[in-house]
Formats: sequence, structure tokens, C-alpha cells
Amino acid sequence: DRIVSANLMMDEHAVELSLRPRYLAEYIGQSKAKENLKIYIEAAKLRKEALDHVLLYGPPGLGKTTLSNIIANELGVNLRTTSGPAIERPGDLAALLTNLQEGDVLFIDEIHRLHRTVEEVLYPAMEDFALDIMIGKGPSARSVRLDLPPFTLIGATTRAGLLSAPLRDRFGVVSRLEFYTVDELAFIVSRAAEILEVSIVGEAASEIAMRSRGTPRIANRLLKRVRDFAQVRGDGIITHDIAQSALSLLQVDPQGLDDIDHKMLRAMMVTFSGRPVGLDTIAATIGEESQTIEDVYEPYLMQIGFLQRTPRGRIATESAYQHLGLPLPTDR
Ligand code: ADP
Repeated sequence: DRIVSANLMMDEHAVELSLRPRYLAEYIGQSKAKENLKIYIEAAKLRKEALDHVLLYGPPGLGKTTLSNIIANELGVNLRTTSGPAIERPGDLAALLTNLQEGDVLFIDEIHRLHRTVEEVLYPAMEDFALDIMIGKGPSARSVRLDLPPFTLIGATTRAGLLSAPLRDRFGVVSRLEFYTVDELAFIVSRAAEILEVSIVGEAASEIAMRSRGTPRIANRLLKRVRDFAQVRGDGIITHDIAQSALSLLQVDPQGLDDIDHKMLRAMMVTFSGRPVGLDTIAATIGEESQTIEDVYEPYLMQIGFLQRTPRGRIATESAYQHLGLPLPTDR
């Protein structure tokens, strides 16, 4: 797996749990989402009502799951966690819903991947806190309505655009999570280092932050790798030198790009001579899936201004040419 992949790796679960902030005050960045949620949470608590349903969207690793845990903590309620593809049949969702207590939070990750039939059970549950169950078959079949305790659904998705309109409309709060700034990530790295009981100098934290693609999950992962390096090659303290050597050994460049990003940019610049290229063509050229490029690589390349989407296709920008040390073609 890529070291700069924003997706959770197999062996990372335990570390992630230990590094996860538990309250809003410890949740760095995302000030817009945080400010709004703070008010809604306070209001819900004052009225002793369940918080409105919340939709969190944005690239992986930016803290959607973390924020859901925090919301449940701040509300002082239980959190049940599941994901779109894990709920196979309407009955699975019914079982989850009937087990909720008043005010609880149900977190559905990858909510855009819910099965249609399951999604239909969710509509009355979200809107009226009710479950419609069919009893019997054929002409004698009838629908029975079961009351559910008021609850909060938190849906997370990397792509809000893939949600069906009726589902999207049922969320009262919709928050988009943004890539983090280098300063925010440096803070996250320093805090994680404290929890992992490793010393790190400020410049090293910033170095890791700059190469983390705006993503806390990647920052934490790079920190762990750099820590190993510091323990084996140094005296355990993460100095700026150690961080730089470790990160270049991991083949993460100063902007957080790895060989796949380089391959992709080079294909656009060299193979297609800087002309606009379609997503599928890029994907086929570098042997990756279009979906992965669109969800994972591209958002960050666009964020740092290396890639632009035009109606005629993708193009690499002047800064991307500079970064790779390639001349800008004159006849683009
Ligand atoms: P997502 O659900 O969006 O894929 P997660 O919530 O699992 O992302 O976040 C990945 C990791 O990044 C968490 O374990 C946590 O340690 C860290 N993290 C995410 N957001 C923050 C934040 N705002 N402040 C500190 N750490 C964060």
C-alpha cells in the first residue's frame, strides 16, 4: 500500500484509536464545521432532543469518523458504527435501529454505498423516527408502523454527489471537511508524538506536516515511520535531519507526492505532451483505476494547484512542471 494513501491500512486500527481526539476542543482545524456543530450540539442538549441528522463529506482520513465519535461524546450518548456496504438487507438496518436508545448516534460510513432497499427503510426512520414493516405476503400483506426512539444519524461519504437526492435532503446539517493547513497538521503531529511518547522538534513536525497531503491520517502514519527511523538510526529524538532523511527514504517528496503522483503527472506532461487528457486515459496509462485517481490522487493535486480539470480533460499546471523540473510545452 502507498505510504501516502489516505485510506486506513490493515495494522493501523489500534494506533488510530489511541490518537483520536475525544472532544471538540481537542479536534484541530475544521473551524467552520466545528463552530456549527458546537451550536447545534448545545441547542440539542438544551432542548433535550436528538441532534439533527448530520452528513459529513470530504476525502478519506480527514476526520469524519473521529468527529462522529466526538459528537456522541459531547452529547453524552452511545455511538453505533456501521458502514453502507455492511448493511446488506433492510432487516439488518431494522435491527440496528430498534437497538438504539433515545438520543443515540448511528454512524454510517460510506453511506453512498447503501443498497437501495436499505435506503428506503432509512427515509421514514430519519424523518418520522418510524419503521415500516411488511407483514405477510400477497394480497393479505399489510404494512405496520413501529416507533423508533429519536436518534441522530451521522452519514459519512467521500463523495456527496453520489448520494441520492431524497437521502441528502433528509440531513439537517451538512458539513464538508477540508484539507488541513500545514500548521494544523504540525500541531496534530506534535500532539500525536506526545501520546506516542516520542520527542520531536518543531521543524521536524512541520516537515512531516508538509508532506502529509493535508490529511491527519497520513501525518500520523508518517510520524510513526519517522519515529522508527529515529530509534534505529538516531537516539530516538526526531530532529529535522532525521525527519528529512526518513521521509526521502520513504520516497515522499517535499510536497507529499509519491511515485504514483509523479507517474501520473509525467504521463500528462510527457506522454500526452501537456495536452488535456481524459481521466480514463490517464488511468489506463499508469495502470490505476479511474475511481481511485478521482477520489484519492486528484483532490490533493488540485488542492496544491498542480492539476486542473478543464472541459476537455485534465492538465498539469505550471507549478507542477516546475516541481518536476520539466519545461512547460509552448504549444499547449
Ligand atoms: P475519516 O473517517 O475521515 O477517514 P478518521 O476520523 O478515521 O478519518 O481520521 C483519521 C485519523 O486522523 C484519526 O485516527 C485521528 O487520529 C486523526 N485525526 C483526524 N482528524 C483530526 C483532528 N481534527 N485533529 C487531530 N487528529 C485528527
